[in-house]
Amino acid sequence: MKYVGAHVSASGGVQNAPLNAGKIGAKAFALFTKNQRQWRAKPLTDEVIEGFQQNLQQVGINPAQVLPHDSYLINLGHPEPEGLEKSRNAFIDEIQRCQQLGLKLLNFHPGATLRKIDEPASLERVAESINIALAQTEGVTAVIENTAGQGSTLGYRFEHLAQIIDRVEDKSRVGVCLDTCHTFVAGYDLRTAEACEASFAEFERIVGFDYLRGMHINDSKPELGQRVDRHHSLGQGKIGWECFRYIMNDPRFDDIPMVLETIDDTLWAEEIQALYGLIA
Ligand SMILES: [Zn+2]
Ligand SMILES: [Zn+2]
Repeated sequence: MKYVGAHVSASGGVQNAPLNAGKIGAKAFALFTKNQRQWRAKPLTDEVIEGFQQNLQQVGINPAQVLPHDSYLINLGHPEPEGLEKSRNAFIDEIQRCQQLGLKLLNFHPGATLRKIDEPASLERVAESINIALAQTEGVTAVIENTAGQGSTLGYRFEHLAQIIDRVEDKSRVGVCLDTCHTFVAGYDLRTAEACEASFAEFERIVGFDYLRGMHINDSKPELGQRVDRHHSLGQGKIGWECFRYIMNDPRFDDIPMVLETIDDTLWAEEIQALYGLIA
């Protein structure tokens, strides 16, 4: 079974996110559980938590198909002690918010070296950050997203994801989310069924589909390998529909949230329908 949705707005409170997902015919969704550009947030109130859970039920979305995304400020591989500490505390708070909402996943970008330490050292810090956070929380899986590799960000090679997972102590609570735009601009071709076959075989060999907990379904403005993070609406970018047809018909992508982060939210309802329509 495929569960497709989008990264919906939680403005006015996280309890509104399920309703926004319901409006576009989503069976899954992503959200920020706090303002993604701020370090601090008010704790979730019982009223907001109950509202969120009631609204989830009302729109018929399983909590397992919700993929919250953490704040963009967090850098779990930060080269400096102060930034690392701040990031780790904010990350623990994000996991706790997911826990309070009854959610099982938290999606995040691994981090960035800021060109002050080398990639292996920064990746090691990411893994250590995850270990610290998992030890202080329960029930939520840390879902590492592959990245476009823009600037000094980590996670643009499948090997980076594997190196982090390798150092995480509780393997049952770590997973990955593949973003099709990021995968493509990082240099893994997805433009044809054959290209998808090869790129996902590489993912299977290096990370393994056992760790796949979610997908971000985006087309790409930049070309293959450009390492620039610019999403596009489905079929309008450099990836094209064949990739999305491939994914929708491959059982390795069953039963996980598949989330649109495409640039025109007025097209989301249509894009969701189009994706389901690709199933042979
Ligand atoms: Zn993404
Ligand atoms: Zn992106």
